[in-house]
Amino acid sequence: MPRHYRLAIVLIIAATASAIDIGAQQAAIPTPESSLGFIVGSDFKLATYDESIVYFRKLAAATNRIRLIDVGKTSTGHPWTLAVISSPENLARLDQLKGIAQRLAHPAGLTDAEARRLASEGKVFVDISGGLHASEIAGSQHTIQLAYDLLGHADDPKVKAILDNTVLFLWPSINPDGQNIVVNWYRENVGTPYEVSPLHEVYQKYIGHDNNRDAYMLNVVESRVVARTWREWEPQIIYVQHQTAPFPTRIWLPPFAEPIAPRVPALMSRQVNTIGMTIAQALESNGQVGATHMGTGFDAWYPGYIDYMPMLQNINAYWTETALYRYATPHFYTLNDFPRDMRDLRPQSLYPSPWPGGWWRLKDAVDYMRTASMATLDYASKYHEDILYNRYQAGRNAIKRYAAEPPYAYVIPQAQRDPGTAAEMLRRLAFNGVRVSQLDRDATFDGATHRKGDWVIPMDQEFAELVRQLFDVQEYPDLREYPEGPPEQPYDAAGWTLPLQMGVNVIEVRSPMTADTRSALRPVRARPTDWRASDDAPFSTDSIAAGIVAPAAAITGSGDKLAVDPAQNDAFRLISRALAGGGAVRTAPAGKGLGTRYVVSGVPMARLEGWARELSLRAERVSLSGAGVPAARVRIAVFKPWTASMDEGWTEWLLDQYGFRYTVIAPADVRAGDLESRFDVILMASESPRTITDGFGEGTVPPRYAGGVGAAGSRALDAFVRAGGTLVCLNESANYAIDALALPVKNVVAGVARKDFFASGSILEVITDPAHPLMAGMPQRANVFVDDSPVFTTLDGFEGSALAKYAPSGSPRLSGYLLGEKYLQGNAAALDVKHGRGRVVLLGFRPQWRGQPFGTFRTVFNAALFSQDAATNAAGTPGFWTAKKP
Ligand SMILES: [Zn+2]
Repeated sequence: MPRHYRLAIVLIIAATASAIDIGAQQAAIPTPESSLGFIVGSDFKLATYDESIVYFRKLAAATNRIRLIDVGKTSTGHPWTLAVISSPENLARLDQLKGIAQRLAHPAGLTDAEARRLASEGKVFVDISGGLHASEIAGSQHTIQLAYDLLGHADDPKVKAILDNTVLFLWPSINPDGQNIVVNWYRENVGTPYEVSPLHEVYQKYIGHDNNRDAYMLNVVESRVVARTWREWEPQIIYVQHQTAPFPTRIWLPPFAEPIAPRVPALMSRQVNTIGMTIAQALESNGQVGATHMGTGFDAWYPGYIDYMPMLQNINAYWTETALYRYATPHFYTLNDFPRDMRDLRPQSLYPSPWPGGWWRLKDAVDYMRTASMATLDYASKYHEDILYNRYQAGRNAIKRYAAEPPYAYVIPQAQRDPGTAAEMLRRLAFNGVRVSQLDRDATFDGATHRKGDWVIPMDQEFAELVRQLFDVQEYPDLREYPEGPPEQPYDAAGWTLPLQMGVNVIEVRSPMTADTRSALRPVRARPTDWRASDDAPFSTDSIAAGIVAPAAAITGSGDKLAVDPAQNDAFRLISRALAGGGAVRTAPAGKGLGTRYVVSGVPMARLEGWARELSLRAERVSLSGAGVPAARVRIAVFKPWTASMDEGWTEWLLDQYGFRYTVIAPADVRAGDLESRFDVILMASESPRTITDGFGEGTVPPRYAGGVGAAGSRALDAFVRAGGTLVCLNESANYAIDALALPVKNVVAGVARKDFFASGSILEVITDPAHPLMAGMPQRANVFVDDSPVFTTLDGFEGSALAKYAPSGSPRLSGYLLGEKYLQGNAAALDVKHGRGRVVLLGFRPQWRGQPFGTFRTVFNAALFSQDAATNAAGTPGFWTAKKP
C-alpha cells in the first residue's frame, strides 16, 4: 500500500470512530470494511458485484462527489452501475463538460484556437474499470478501494487536484455477471481441497475471456453497453485492469510489444507509452517493485480488445497486467520457482527492481492496481489541457488526411450475395461511432456508377482509422524469434479483414469525391441522444444502427412451398422458425451453377412470406415434390466439456442468434451412450483432443467436473455415427474424431515444425463445392478463418467427399500470416466422411470464430440440417472428390 494513503486511512478511521461531523454537506464517508465486513484484499475474502454496489450506494448517500448511473443490463439481465467521481462543482455541470468532450471528440468544423479554449475549460474524462476477465479478480476489488481512496481523502492536495481536473468514470466491473460467478465459485470451494480449482463454465454468457475480443463486432450485450456509454461520454483515457503479469514480474505496463496496430494514431501511442512509464515511476516511489514493460507477447496488433480499439477512436486506451496467484488465496514463491534466467535478480533497463519472491497476496495485487489507477488520474490531472487538446488533434488529423489522400470513401453496394450481412457489418461500425451515408440517387465514384440506396463511408471523419483497420488486408510482419528461426507468434489474430470474413463486397474509392457525388450522400446515423436507446435489445434493433437496413424482400413464383437461397444468412432464421413451427425443410439443387436452395414446407405460405419480408429475403414460391426433413428429425446436441470452452460458447451463441433449438450435453452424457436414440447431429466446437478425452484431471476440480468423454465416450460416438448419426467437428476437434473413430483421414500439418508451417488467426481462400448440400450457399471461392487448423488428406478406405480444398498452387493467404503454403496446396479444408450409416463432417477452419466470419456460419447450419436430408434427398452429392486424393 502506498505509504501516504496508509497514514491517511489511519487518520480517517480515527476520525470516523470519534467524530460525527466531517463537513457541512458531507456525512462520514463509510469505509469499505464497514460495508463488506473485511478489508479489501484480505486473504480468502472476495466481494461480489452486488456487494460492491451496496457499498457504492452508501458512498453516494454520504457525499456529493459521486454520482451513480444505471447503464443498462448484462446478458443475464443483471442491473449494471457506473460511478462518476469528481468535485461537486464538476458534477453540477457534468452536461456542459460532456458537451466539451463530445465537441473535441468530433472536431469537424472546429478551429485550433476554439479547441484550445475548450481544452482549457474542459476536464479530462478518465474511464477506469475493474476489468472484464472475472477470474483476474483483484481488478473488481480494487475499484471498491479506489473509490474510498478518493472520496475518503478529498482534502488531500493531490486527490483534490484530481477531483478538480478530472472526472472519473469508475466501473466497479465491466463484467458484473462474471464477478458474481467467480466469487460464488470461490466461496463454495475456499477451505476445501478445491480452493484454487479453475471454473467449469465461462465467466461471461457464451464467451468468457473472449469478452475482450469483441470490441469492434459488438456481438454480446456487455460490449454494446460499454461502447454506448463511451460514445455518450467520450472519455479521453480508458484503462482496464488485468492480471497476467509475465512471471516473476509483478505488473506489466505499456508500451506494448511489437507489432502494434498500424492505423493507431502515433500521438495516442506516445501518450499511452508515457502513462505506462508514469505508472512504473509511481510504483517505484511507493516501494512497489517488479514493474516491467517487456517479457510478454502482449502485442497490440488485433483491434478487438475493448481496452485497445478505442485508440482508433483517438482515445488513450490501454490495459495493465498485475500478478495473479488464484482468487484470494496467498502464495509464497522462492527463487527456485523462477525461470532460470531470472534467478540472478539482475536489474534490467525496463525491469530495474526485480521482484525477489516471497508472499504474494490479493492485497498486494489490489495495492499495485490502486497505485496504477492513481498514477493515471494524477497524470490526467497534471496534463489535462494537453490530453484534451490531443484528442482533438488526432481527430482533426484523421479528417484532414482522408480529405487529401485515398481511400476517400468506401462504397458498400446494396446488391450483395447476402445484403443482410452487409447491413450487419455497417451497423457495427455505426454503433462504434462511424458515420455511414446512403446515396439518395445514382452517383459516380472513381468513374463507376453506384446505385441509389448504396451505402457509403466517407473517410474524412474522425474515426476513419478504425474503418481502415477493419477493412484493410492485414500483412502481419514476418518477425522471427531469431534469424532463420520460427516466426514470432501473434498474441492473437493476425488477420481479420471484415469484408473478407463476412463475405461483403466493399469498394475502395481511390479518387476524391466530386461535389456532385458528395451532395448525393445522406447520413443514416441516428442522433447521438439515441445511444442510450438500445438497452439489451438484440443488436439488429438497436436504434443507433436501426437506420441501416437491407433492401426489401423479393418474393417471386407460385406454389405452396418457399425456396430460400442459403447465401443469405437470414434464410436460416426463417428455416429455424419453420422447424420450430412444425414445418419441414429439404434441399433442392437450384440449377446448374446456382448451388443448393432450401425448400420450406408445412407452414402456411402467408406466415412464410411474412418472415421473408421481415428478414429482407430473396425467396421463390415453388411446388416441388419430394420429402422434406420434418422438424422432429433435426435433433441437435452441442457437446460441452467442463473446461470453460469459449468456442463451445460461441457455438451456442450462433445457434441462439439464428433460432436453432439444441441440447447441451456433458462428458457424462456422451459416456452414457445410446446417443442415436436422442440425437441426429452432435456438434463439437474447436477443442483439443485431450480436452475432449480427459477434461480436467481427477483431484484438480470437484469430482463432478472432472474427466472427459474417455474411451467409453469415443465408443459411444462411434456407435452413434455408425447408426446413422452426424458428428460435426469444428477445427481442432477434427483431430479428435480422426483418431477416436479411426477415420481414413490424415491431418498433414500435425507435428510439422513451426518454422516450416505456421497459420494462426488468418483468412485463407478455399475452393468449395457449392453443389454439395453441406456447402449450400457458399461461393465457389470462399474465405475461411483458420487458427491452428488441421489440413486433410484421405487414406485408403475413404468414402465421402471433399467439401472445400486449397488450390493446387499459389498461396491461399488473403489476410494475416501464412508460412509454408505447400502444406495446404491441393489438400482439403473440409471433408464429408462416410462412417457406417452416418457421417463425420470435418471443418478444418473456425466457421463461427468469435461470431465474426458471417461468410461461413452457414456451413454449421448446413451440417446440422444435412443429417437426415441426405437419406431422403440424394441429389447434389456429386463425385467432386471421392475415395482418394487425385
Ligand atoms: Zn485479462
